[in-house]
Order: sequence, then structure tokens, then C-alpha cells
Amino acid sequence: MPQSSLAIDSKLPQVGTTIFTIMSRLAADCGAINLSQGFPDFQPDDSLFAATLQAMRMGRNQYPPMAGVAELRAAISDKVESLYGVRYDSESEVTVTAGATQAIFTAIAAFVRPGDEVIVFEPVYDSYVPAIETVGGEARYAALSYPDYRPDWEQVRSLLGPRTRMIIINSPHNPTGAVWSAQDLEHLAELTRGTDIVVLADEVYEHIVFDGARHHSVSRRPELAARSLVVSSFGKTYHITGWKIGYVVGSAHLMNEFRKVHQFNVFTVNTPCQVGIADYMREAARHLGLADFYQRKRNFFRTLLQDSRFDLLACRGTYFQLARYRRISALPDVEFAHWLTREAGVAVIPVSVFYHDGRDDGVVRFCFAKQETTLAAAAERLRSL
Ligand code: PMP
Ligand code: GLN
Repeated sequence: MPQSSLAIDSKLPQVGTTIFTIMSRLAADCGAINLSQGFPDFQPDDSLFAATLQAMRMGRNQYPPMAGVAELRAAISDKVESLYGVRYDSESEVTVTAGATQAIFTAIAAFVRPGDEVIVFEPVYDSYVPAIETVGGEARYAALSYPDYRPDWEQVRSLLGPRTRMIIINSPHNPTGAVWSAQDLEHLAELTRGTDIVVLADEVYEHIVFDGARHHSVSRRPELAARSLVVSSFGKTYHITGWKIGYVVGSAHLMNEFRKVHQFNVFTVNTPCQVGIADYMREAARHLGLADFYQRKRNFFRTLLQDSRFDLLACRGTYFQLARYRRISALPDVEFAHWLTREAGVAVIPVSVFYHDGRDDGVVRFCFAKQETTLAAAAERLRSL
């Protein structure tokens, strides 16, 4: 290829390759056990494959409707109603997306204009701010402070202003494993009351909440639901992160705008996987059993690391475990993550990458969505440090 000398005024001058790609690649290069990027190392259920293959064989191989196949939208609407007691109309209030990432990007593109402000909570999942900045918006950062990562609602109040267009929330929270309470949602409702602020609720870990607690969805509260788009991901729920399918639900008023962008962003999502998932998700035990399934893995991993020199933080949901490593090393967390991958053979995610100012509490994130043999092998290496 000849070199290009075009002058590019980058929309994302600070953005490089995502940490997930960097750490997974380094893990592969070093032959390390990969507890960095969040994905399972085990197979999904065979019956999901069977249902998807059946859809292909039945000729479900052409474009589906723009918002998703009818049976999947109906299954989503039923699931949300049975869990959160609110009925989203499957025709006008449910849209199937190419993973949660596309749902989030599309929602931001649909509502945020140049100069608008969007409140995000730090540490913040890495796709939100680049999406905001791509469309000319500006992120305002609310703190979830170490080590319990609770929101400070007085600080959020101080960030609100006439330019606030959207608030993005994420519970259960990646990377911290924190879970918001009913009272947090009460604060959110109170702060947004009487405004035109859209709430974008990233609830991709809605089924992974531990110790008998429950997930508080904004869908459950009519006042918040009316101003919210709620996003989930089948990748997390059915162990198929590589299928890239998720969905968004929201009032028809908001969804109408969302779809204006969605139809020219991806138009729609592959048909047979949608049909397969629609069939598979009818058995509610498949998503309702997820919390116990991952709680066992969390407990298994935490028990193995109990006598290590990592200090484990609380993990109330998601499939991520945070740990402080200051008793092992004084390195900054990005360097520690690289060192750990190369020298100890376990890849992790440094948490400072989720802060705009690189705040570093000496904390790394382990993904425990792994087979017990993988977790045991990793823990053996980690205990030797
Ligand atoms: N939001 C959060 C908080 C996530 O952790 C992830 C993926 N791990 C996503 C969004 C993106 O989900 P998807 O893979 O369905 O795009
Ligand atoms: N959300 C996943 C994680 O937190 C990664 C998704 C991605 O690689 N973009 O690890």
C-alpha cells in the first residue's frame, strides 16, 4: 500500500487499541492463562446450537425485520415482564442489536448532540466515552470510589446542568462487581425528575447477582423506565460473547429515535442466531440459574486465592473479581498486568484504564467465567507470588 499523507483531524485522538484486545493478544503471545477479557472458556449448551441450526435448515437465512425477528422480541418482552413486572410492546419497544456495544453506541448517537454532556460513573466501561466523543458530546465523570465503588449522589447532583442530555449507568458493574441498591435508583429518579435527561442503563449482567441479592432494573420503576433505554446482552447470559447479540428495551417514544439510527447503523442482526436464541430462552431456568452458576465459580476462585498475597475486594455481581496487589508489587497497574502475564503466566486487566485521569489504586481485574481447571491452574500461579 502507498503511504497516505491525508491530514486527519482525529475524533478520538487519545484512543488506542482497547485493553481487552491488548491483554488477550499478550496472553496468547505468552501462552498465559487468560483471565483478562471477559468471556467464558467453556461451551454454551448444545440445544442452543440445535435450535440455531434448525433455523438455518428451515430457511431462516435472509434479512429479518429491522428491529429483530418477531419471536425473539416477544421472548424478550415476556422475560422482562416476568422479571421486572413491566410489559414492553414487542413491536415498538424492543430492538435486537449486534451486542450491547452497538446498542450503547446507537443510543448515544441517537440522543447526544455536539456540546451535550453525558454523565458516566468511573471506573467506566471502555466503550462509553469514545462513543460520546465520536458524536461530539462531552463526558462528565462521577466517582465510584475505591474500595466499595458506591455512587456519591451529591456529586452527581453537582454535575447536572442545562447541557446534561444523558446519564449512563451500569449495574451490576464492570469492572468492579458492585451492584446498585433500590435506594440508588431512588436517588437517580429524584435527580432526573422534571428534566429531559435520558438514562441509558447498561444491564448486561442483570442475571449475575450474588448472595441472594437481586438486580434492580430501571425497568421496574415506571418513572425511570419512561426516560430509559435498557440494554442487555445474550453474550453474557448464554455464554456466547462471540455471537454479538443483545437487545434494548424502552418506551416507544425513545425507541422510535433509537431505531432511526439503528436502521442505518447495522439495519439488523443475523437471523438464525436470533431464532435459535428465541427458542432457547423460553426455558427461564437457563438465565435464572446463572447467578448460582457464577456464584460457585466466584467462591471457588476466591477460596483458592485466600492465602495469596492478593487482597480481594467484594464481588457482588458480574463475573469479575477485583484484587489489590500492593503486597506483591509497587508497579503501576498497567505494568503489573503486563508483568503478571509475562512472568507469572496469568493475564488480567488493569483497572486504571477505566479512569480518564489514569487513577491507579493498585487493583487488577480477574475474569472468573472459566472452567474450574482453568481457575485452579491460574490460582496456583498467583499463590506462588
Ligand atoms: N457493557 C458492559 C458493562 C460489558 O461488560 C460488555 C461486554 N463485556 C458490554 C457492554 C458489551 O457487550 P456485547 O459483547 O454484547 O457487545
Ligand atoms: N466486556 C468485555 C470485558 O469487560 C470485553 C468486551 C470486548 O472485548 N470489547 O472484558
